[in-house]
Amino acid sequence: MKLNSIFVAHHKNTENEQTSLFPTPSQVVIPLAQGMGASCSPIVKKGDSVKVGQLIGQTTAFMSAPIYSSVSGTVNRIDKLMTIGGKYVDTVVIDTDGQQTPFEEIKPPIVNDKASFIEAIKQSGLVGLGGAGFPTHIKLNIDQTKTPVDSLVINAAECEPFITSDYRQMIEAPNDIIEGIKTVMKYLEIKNAYIGIEDNKPQAIKLLKEKAKNNPEIKIVSLKSSYPQGAEKVIAYYCTGRIIGDGEIPINQGIIVMNVSSVAFVHSFLQTGMPLVNRRLTVSGDAVSKPTNLIAPIGTKISELLTYTNTDPEKITKLINGGIMMGQTLYDIDYPITKTTNAVLALTQKLCDGTGGEPTNCIRCGRCIQACPLGLMPRNFEQAYNNHDIEELEKLNITLCMNCGSCTYVCPAKRQISQTNQLAKALVMQARKK
Ligand code: SF4
Ligand code: SF4
Repeated sequence: MKLNSIFVAHHKNTENEQTSLFPTPSQVVIPLAQGMGASCSPIVKKGDSVKVGQLIGQTTAFMSAPIYSSVSGTVNRIDKLMTIGGKYVDTVVIDTDGQQTPFEEIKPPIVNDKASFIEAIKQSGLVGLGGAGFPTHIKLNIDQTKTPVDSLVINAAECEPFITSDYRQMIEAPNDIIEGIKTVMKYLEIKNAYIGIEDNKPQAIKLLKEKAKNNPEIKIVSLKSSYPQGAEKVIAYYCTGRIIGDGEIPINQGIIVMNVSSVAFVHSFLQTGMPLVNRRLTVSGDAVSKPTNLIAPIGTKISELLTYTNTDPEKITKLINGGIMMGQTLYDIDYPITKTTNAVLALTQKLCDGTGGEPTNCIRCGRCIQACPLGLMPRNFEQAYNNHDIEELEKLNITLCMNCGSCTYVCPAKRQISQTNQLAKALVMQARKK
């Protein structure tokens, strides 16, 4: 079986750019909600001194992950920040001292069984680094006796145009990936691992094959370069041959899917005990003078990344947090990078004209249906949404839509289909709660 996919121009002009360390900014802005689940509460106050890796946001909620200071310095204030999703969250603003002094209590965690491994991952603050931000300790906390899992699928497809941060992770630190995989397999008792990589990254495929040569349980799967190969259900299918059905998640088919940078972080955290405080990301787009890959403290303002890459804000028509297909448009260049920011894209009008433009009437060409990897009927969603027809939206399986953006990309009438789908999904979820 072949799933629907589309070809999108790659624009991966930063693939050969060695990742550089971003200089410590003078101030960071750290939102206390950085992924799926509940927000954290601040445990520091104005005037407190903090160090790198010190806990600043904690929660007792099941679905959440703690948040740590990415810098050493002094808390300037606890503020409110409107997230990209439109929610106001507590935010810790820290003036840095330039010393980057590590918190003295940082030490590698003691891990000797599954329970201590899951607790360590929880304390690391790790959420899915591919962009979804699902807390990793919840994903990995499986019970093999109730829901058997035999396959770990590592998502290294990086099918989004422009983004090369996962690719640089593979080229620059492949051992962390292999060791992270071995650790997850050991504590979760998973037999097989598959690293799915698009075939437009031959160097990464070659390198990881070499690194995994003594571990036949870890297989490197070369995937066709098409979009969205990195979607969870798609990569799980092409790596294992198993179909994750409607309403199912990978674990229902004995699969856990992890992003390649997330699994690498598992290894580095267990070695050092330094929680998630930095982010590897790509800064690119046709408005960026020096597109590059960076490792920057979480909370760094995007305006500082633009200055670093010699980008004139006047040239930017659209600023995106994440990829061009699934990222979110930013309204403020001072918005900070968070745990889930794998890219910042700055686009000029020229590129926006190629991807957007004013929508016209649907001509019922069916291209959106042909493009949908899940076999949905995107063209019918909009009408049902406009009519607030919840029953019809349910019948059309709107909640299965993963907002991959393929339907919007191929639509000759420039209809904002996947954007409308998000609103329609929210409408259905709200109705289900009542
Ligand atoms: S691709 Fe656009 S124009 Fe074609 S059927 Fe879908 S919504 Fe209509
Ligand atoms: S955004 Fe949703 S409806 Fe559109 S192609 Fe992707 S999964 Fe299908």
